[in-house]
Amino acid sequence: MENFDLVIRGGKLVTDQKVTISDLGIRNGKIAAVGLNLLGKETIDANGFLVLPGGIDPHVHFQMPTATTMTSDDWFSGTRAAACGGTTTVIDFVEPEMGESLSEALRKRQAEAERNCWIDYALHMTIHNVEPKTLQAMEYMQELGITSFKVYTTYEGMKLNQNNLRIVFEKAASIGGLCMVHAEADDLIQQTTAQLIKEKKTDPSWFPESRPAQAEIEAVINCIKLTANTNLILYVVHLSTSAAIELVDQARKDGKNIIAETCPQYLLLNKNLFTNNDQVTAASLICSPPLREAGENQAIWSAVDEEKIQSVGSDHCSFTIDPQKRSGLDDFRKVPGGLPGVELRLPLLYTFGVRAGHLNLTEWVRLCSSQPAKIFGLYPQKGSLTVGADADIVLFDPEKEVVVQQTMLHENVDYTPYAGLKLTGYPVMTIVKGNVLVKDGELVSEKKTGSFLKCNQPEFV
Ligand SMILES: [Zn+2]
Repeated sequence: MENFDLVIRGGKLVTDQKVTISDLGIRNGKIAAVGLNLLGKETIDANGFLVLPGGIDPHVHFQMPTATTMTSDDWFSGTRAAACGGTTTVIDFVEPEMGESLSEALRKRQAEAERNCWIDYALHMTIHNVEPKTLQAMEYMQELGITSFKVYTTYEGMKLNQNNLRIVFEKAASIGGLCMVHAEADDLIQQTTAQLIKEKKTDPSWFPESRPAQAEIEAVINCIKLTANTNLILYVVHLSTSAAIELVDQARKDGKNIIAETCPQYLLLNKNLFTNNDQVTAASLICSPPLREAGENQAIWSAVDEEKIQSVGSDHCSFTIDPQKRSGLDDFRKVPGGLPGVELRLPLLYTFGVRAGHLNLTEWVRLCSSQPAKIFGLYPQKGSLTVGADADIVLFDPEKEVVVQQTMLHENVDYTPYAGLKLTGYPVMTIVKGNVLVKDGELVSEKKTGSFLKCNQPEFV
């Protein structure tokens, strides 16, 4: 009988393919065997628990500067929170400054993250100009492990105009890369915002009106058009409207390589939370795209039911209420936009996705782990329980009852938009590369073994 470093015994293994009762044998930080009656130097009894490949969050922003401040979670606290919530890989962004080369910006970002991460991380590269040296640099990013490029249709300094979007899409397609797009039509946002300001509607509760659903819809239509003659994989981030999701789905049916991402906030939170005349709450819920009408939550769940969503990211981008969000109470334009969510993404999708009947267990693992890993070229090293994969494993108690409170979370932020929600099912152990890092919601190891992951060729799912 083989002897493993660690055996996880008798759990219900859930992958994107199937659910089976089996042991997992771990050796040298990797899954070395899947089978019955495995023997190890150490054994963890997983009877009654689900055993999953750790969550892959393809969309987080840690240690991200804005014009006026910096996200409250850095690599250290952000990856710690991820691990505590059952996520074992995050993909963040490199955002080159004006004039800075892509490789220089990448080096800086890696240097920040180095030795500060509890879990492995990969990076997307933001492209905000089409200078020849930028386009040239895209060609050798693949060697450095960067295969996805993020573009914006909004935000001063970030947005690309029509022609430049086309240029980046074509370039990325020509090198087998993937483009992620933040799709919101900027001219419509500018116009709507100017009108609100003119009417002195600057209270944070007006923020959702400033970025109408139509802005997302128009931008998605436009991006689909722009990629029509390329074989680009286009990944549309944080879709907040069912209409835009339908457009992506139709494009997929027409044979286009387009992928829809949504986030827990667009499934579970909505504009009704803004209407109690509480400016602080309103500011705390400002994110782009904004929270929508209550009916959209159900409509996006229906899209999940119909398998029109391929990936769920948190878009974790945390700012404290005090002092960060509070600094803009008189003018929504000054409120830093973003919500925390990396820690709760996986459990929220269990309670409100699996328990509520929108997802079965394999679909849950597919959306929160395996598919993001495949799309961004990390599978099967990540997002799988196959022999040879990294032993990034989560034990999940499907019956554990939790009422969400900010104080139980590990995100470095003074609120959670999900406070008060009752969850049934929560991670009870997170194993990172064979090392038990989190047990019953607390770190039990000092080992920060996270390191940079090179992404391989993206895969269309
Ligand atoms: Zn984002």
